[in-house]
Amino acid sequence: MSLSPENAWNECLEIIRDNISRQSFRTWFAPLKPLKLETEGELHRLTVQLPSQFYYEWLEEHYYSLLRKTVTKVLGPGGRLFYDVVIEKDDVEQGYEGASLHLPARHAANEPHTTQAPVTRRAVTSPSGRTHEIAAQMAAPVSSPFVIPGIQKVQVDSRLNPNYTFDRFIEGDCNRLARSAALAIAQRPGGTSFNPFLMYGGVGLGKTHLIQAIGNYVAAGNSGQSVLYVSSERFTTEFVQAIQHNRVAEFSLFYRQIDLLIIDDVQFFGGKEKTQEEFFHIFNALHQSGKQIVLSADRPPKDIHGIEERLLSRFQWGLAADVQVPDLETRTAILNRKSEEDGIDVSHDVLEFVAHNIKSNIRELEGALIRLLAHSTLRKREIDVTMAREVLADLIKETRVTLTIEEIQQLVCDYFSIPEDLVRAKTRKREVVQARQVAMFFSKQLTQHSLKTIGLHFGGRDHSTVIHANQSVENQIETDPKFKSMIEEIGNRLQLRAR
Ligand code: ADP
Ligand code: MG
Repeated sequence: MSLSPENAWNECLEIIRDNISRQSFRTWFAPLKPLKLETEGELHRLTVQLPSQFYYEWLEEHYYSLLRKTVTKVLGPGGRLFYDVVIEKDDVEQGYEGASLHLPARHAANEPHTTQAPVTRRAVTSPSGRTHEIAAQMAAPVSSPFVIPGIQKVQVDSRLNPNYTFDRFIEGDCNRLARSAALAIAQRPGGTSFNPFLMYGGVGLGKTHLIQAIGNYVAAGNSGQSVLYVSSERFTTEFVQAIQHNRVAEFSLFYRQIDLLIIDDVQFFGGKEKTQEEFFHIFNALHQSGKQIVLSADRPPKDIHGIEERLLSRFQWGLAADVQVPDLETRTAILNRKSEEDGIDVSHDVLEFVAHNIKSNIRELEGALIRLLAHSTLRKREIDVTMAREVLADLIKETRVTLTIEEIQQLVCDYFSIPEDLVRAKTRKREVVQARQVAMFFSKQLTQHSLKTIGLHFGGRDHSTVIHANQSVENQIETDPKFKSMIEEIGNRLQLRAR
């Protein structure tokens, strides 16, 4: 066998890609890098690099058998997969490295198939670009030179929002990694390899919710651990005030007592050198004494500007996990849950409609629901898809431009089971007229074309015909509930097509 590690791994990826969702593939396999392929007789050992310890644990737990089968398929029965967990570190001499590596030997000693298993694991750390093997089980006793004996534990107001709990957080592919890591941390703050834990991702995707869920979980337990949630802006303001009032020592001491420190939106530390420096020292003190640090940022660490390298690199010592835009199922589940929680009575159609159309941001999803509720209360009308389309028009504009008149004609004709060219022909058969009017109605609603252009696409008809069609459809929506639900159904299908 004369495969390169890249080729071998690419073949594996081909197989894996066909077996799991795109999202999972992107999250779990795209970041892995093939390192080497060593052959010894019948044995072929492929080593891939994992970006963090957490990957190793996750792959072992969720993809063990897939990986095993895949490697056997690509490399033959003598194929073995090795993992290198490479953690970039800058100051190993400070004794931090032990804290961030911990290998549970799930498949190692206690499973009979281990020695035959194609999947074997090994953790490697690279302090200076060099890789070397470390023991599989690392105890990580952390000494704490900064803990000042005799500090009285004061009661700390955690500043948490009690609504942000794990219970209320819907899990989806988009946030699975972040959520599992968060839960693991909540169960053992300071005791996992994810310290610090940095959660990053766009606005309104649940970062604040999830990092506070860790806090609420710990606060609800009776471990007596002190929890503090603070935004980086508030941290900055309070630090500036501390300087003004000559109370920096107190400020700094206060933070050093916290067992679980959660700092939201650390990108706002950008450019604030003094604050960063203070935070740097607090970070070191907490981390060294095995306290848990949880951070969030609105972008990946490498894109955060104005933060000192030494601090940025610390942000990445533990685990950096992203939250992504939720898929349709997750959006629907979130809406379902929210409407239940708020006691809003909304039909499944409406929820689907909203989930289809509002895609990029969970805060916006929630906002949409509240807006619908407000309108229905004000107008004393039930929330239906027509209302949703109208009320949320400004939020869903984006989808409007992506449909063409031809696509609308096609879908509408499909719906009425008539040949598509009839809507452009001269015929005045009843069912054709209806399909034509409905298609014109949606062309006006969902595209940006002028009435004249729409008319032209319907066999060169006049713009007044389009106006008439539109009025006729609107009248029927008002007067005929059956017709109305038919229009909603077609509207939904069109929205789906527009995605
Ligand atoms: P971010 O901090 O990423 O900007 P937030 O945590 O403030 O986002 O989330 C915005 C809103 O969406 C919050 O009300 C939050 O409760 C809600 N939310 C976000 N993700 C989820 C989820 N997966 N399940 C339930 N609610 C969510
Ligand atoms: Mg936030």
